[in-house]
Amino acid sequence: MLRDELVAAAEWVCQYLGQLPETPVSRPMPARRRARLRDAPLDRTGGELWQILDFVREEIAPFPTGNGHPAFFAWINSPPAPAGLIAELLASAINATCGMGENALMDLERGTVRTLADLAGLPSTAGGVLTSGGSMANLLALATARTWFLTRRGSADGPAYDRDHARLTLYYNAQAHMSVAKAAACIGIPAHRLRPIPSDTQHRLDPAALRAAVTADQAAGLLPFCTVTTLGTTATGAVDPLEPVTALCRSTGMWHHADGAWGGLGAMVPALAHLYQGVADVDSMTVDPHKTLSVPVGCGALLVTDPEYLHTAFSHRASYLTPGEPDTLPWLSHSTIELTRPGTRALALWATLHHLGGDGVAALLQHYLTLADRLREKITASPRLELVAGGPWPVACFRLTGTTTPDPGALHTRVARRVQTAGRAYLATVTVDDRTVLRACLCNYRTHESDLDLLLREVLQAADSDCAEPPDA
Ligand code: PLP
Repeated sequence: MLRDELVAAAEWVCQYLGQLPETPVSRPMPARRRARLRDAPLDRTGGELWQILDFVREEIAPFPTGNGHPAFFAWINSPPAPAGLIAELLASAINATCGMGENALMDLERGTVRTLADLAGLPSTAGGVLTSGGSMANLLALATARTWFLTRRGSADGPAYDRDHARLTLYYNAQAHMSVAKAAACIGIPAHRLRPIPSDTQHRLDPAALRAAVTADQAAGLLPFCTVTTLGTTATGAVDPLEPVTALCRSTGMWHHADGAWGGLGAMVPALAHLYQGVADVDSMTVDPHKTLSVPVGCGALLVTDPEYLHTAFSHRASYLTPGEPDTLPWLSHSTIELTRPGTRALALWATLHHLGGDGVAALLQHYLTLADRLREKITASPRLELVAGGPWPVACFRLTGTTTPDPGALHTRVARRVQTAGRAYLATVTVDDRTVLRACLCNYRTHESDLDLLLREVLQAADSDCAEPPDA
């Protein structure tokens, strides 16, 4: 019964992925069909397994937005590589609950997290947990930092908690991903105690400005508890300086969390390794295997140099869940918010890493960097384009030159929209130094130089069309 449908599904997957480069990067779904997906009632009687495949083939797959297509440059999501695809299917069949008790996939997760920590350059004490992505990892990190900080002050619990919690203050590069501020809100740090620190001319956190902000807040009686650096900022791919931030954190009693959702594995790449000096001394790091490693979404990770406070933050007990023998390792649910957790992340990450091997991971990262260099060269060589920012992580932020429009930001937004609608390539806009510009990220192992040429052709054609049919024409 199941066999025929599974074989058919596998054949469809091979065909779908094989044809991907020839299909549109994006094809918006007509509003009527979208409404049908939202509003369709449940039949009283069920259907056949075959209908699932037909439904996906007809109603879902023809309307993609990108991720996976080699000419998709908008978001930092890599395509699903075969190892992860196979692993997710197998793990779904096993359906292990990777939160409590013991099972093989939980140990595989522990081992895979250790491998990730090694690749990131963290010390051998490091542990952690897989998450749905970088946003969740940043949330776990801030909760852990708070527990660590308040425990050391003796106010993690009890009457002093409210007094101290009301003074906790968080620092980060103003270029940090919005999930950092969102995580702060989730743990009850209000906006007026967030300190986005202005970045330097290369969009990196400025340690002098950080120090000044911390000193001023301490003088005002606030409690600086954590600084978040970013390894690979979302907008421009900048890497914040690690060593001066760790030194400041040590001297002022703060936790140093590095958001390496995109660029956490940079220490593996010889060309970037100098920027990762001191990475072993951060207290925690976010890494997103679904950004650079081609693990299917969503697979993120929080790595913690000394996992004790991660466990303290999340080791809530329930009488119906009895931990095992005294020597049992901490349950993974004691390192995160989730109790019932999927084994798909662990097996998909393990399979991807073991399929590539360490050298393969480094080569994959280098592939993105080489492509980004080529894209930036092509932009610089074009008389109609100007490179605005980008790097060292593989991204190019650029703008159209020689336009007479009074509102270049609106022009770039329209051009990106035209490129997206044409469906042959897909890029985004981003705000860099208060200007809205075009942005292309490289994180697809199937992207080649010809896709870069296609992207730039599409951008220039869209600009020409915009000129020929201005928006108010
Ligand atoms: N941190 C950084 C630096 C990011 O670029 C992103 C997403 O692009 C995130 C965190 C959030 O990651 P996720 O989308 O996996 O939640």
